[in-house]
Amino acid sequence: MLTVDQAQHAILEHVAIGPQHSVPLDEALGQVLATHIDSDIDSPPFDKALMDGFAVRAQDVADGTARLNILEEVTAGSVATNPIGPGEAIQIMTGAPMPDGADAVVRIEDTQVENSHTQPVVSIQTRPVSPGQDRILQGTSMKRGDNVIPKGRALRPQELGLLAELGQHTVDVYRQVTVGVLATGDELVAIDQQPAAGQIRNSNESMLAAQVRASGAIARKLGIARDNREHLAEKIQQGLDCDVLLLSGGVSAGRLDLVPDQLQAAGITQVFHKVQVKPGKPLWFGTSNNTVVFGLPGNPVSSMVCFELFVRTALRRLAGLSPATPNPAFARLDSDFEFHSDRPTYFPARLESHPDGPTITPVNWHGSSDLRSTTLANSMIHFPAGKQLYQANQWVEVHLWAG
Ligand code: AMP
Ligand code: MG
Repeated sequence: MLTVDQAQHAILEHVAIGPQHSVPLDEALGQVLATHIDSDIDSPPFDKALMDGFAVRAQDVADGTARLNILEEVTAGSVATNPIGPGEAIQIMTGAPMPDGADAVVRIEDTQVENSHTQPVVSIQTRPVSPGQDRILQGTSMKRGDNVIPKGRALRPQELGLLAELGQHTVDVYRQVTVGVLATGDELVAIDQQPAAGQIRNSNESMLAAQVRASGAIARKLGIARDNREHLAEKIQQGLDCDVLLLSGGVSAGRLDLVPDQLQAAGITQVFHKVQVKPGKPLWFGTSNNTVVFGLPGNPVSSMVCFELFVRTALRRLAGLSPATPNPAFARLDSDFEFHSDRPTYFPARLESHPDGPTITPVNWHGSSDLRSTTLANSMIHFPAGKQLYQANQWVEVHLWAG
């Protein structure tokens, strides 16, 4: 049986980065950049004022006091018509280009304009002024030719802003991955139905579809397949149009666990079945030329954890994100915790931040069918197999849940 690491590697060996396309910038939030972005401009594009005030020669105000002749006023969006020389200043607004000859700005609060003379004069009373005060030089933030956003970056508002500054009104991103979600089981009823004796509502489909969306992919809900070969085959066929197909249930050793057989009958080649992990041991994974398929165990927490550990890796790879398997975090246990399991376990827990560092608390979890307790959690602790008393304050590996 594969370990979690081996299973993640096997997934990466069988899943390649998906195709790319060009989208309008306004539709690119959360999508993954498919090309490196080099700047073709300097930013700022000219030396500019950072304050409203007066552009001066710093040497004229070296001791903090001066009376200077005002030549003109320059506002953001216009350019001064005069250079300034000794004893001269130009009134300037934030964002306006620095006039030639000026190398500092004195903010308006430290100045007084005297209009009584034919030539307006500004008198300055401030701290000693040095060159560069309240001015930013052309190209300080980025220079033409700089690589400013690497390929593989999920685009956030600040990247969209930078792309806009560069004039990139369309952007090359990896295509969003489509993921079919198919629940299986004779006991399942739709969530708007009243379960009869022995039946339960199909909670996995809604949960998995939400995990798909929280990962930035597009979810296609395919409903419920019954535990018979014909219906399963028909529903699987519907899902094979998607880049990824997730099934829940029907992958263990029960008489009606038909999913592995039916997937292979549909032309999906098995890569592995079963992983040394709790919850989630019966996980099945296979691929065809066009589709990556996961058979997730039916118990809700098993489905959820297998998604976080394995499906996310496949989705991140297809989407061009790196690293495909997110790195774990670490936190201190907030109290002693005795743990015993024959398999490495991913245990629902609550990560909280505190002034002296993050703490983690395992929630009161009753195993793979106990979905309710996961709503008290935001992450899971990875405990290795074996029996151990973990001490309060001991560092443990933590995997954050998306969403
Ligand atoms: P299975 O993997 O099909 O043997 O299912 C394991 C357990 O998960 C059983 O108790 C099922 O009733 C439950 N289960 C399977 N599918 C779902 C689902 N879509 N929603 C909620 N529970 C499910
Ligand atoms: Mg079942």
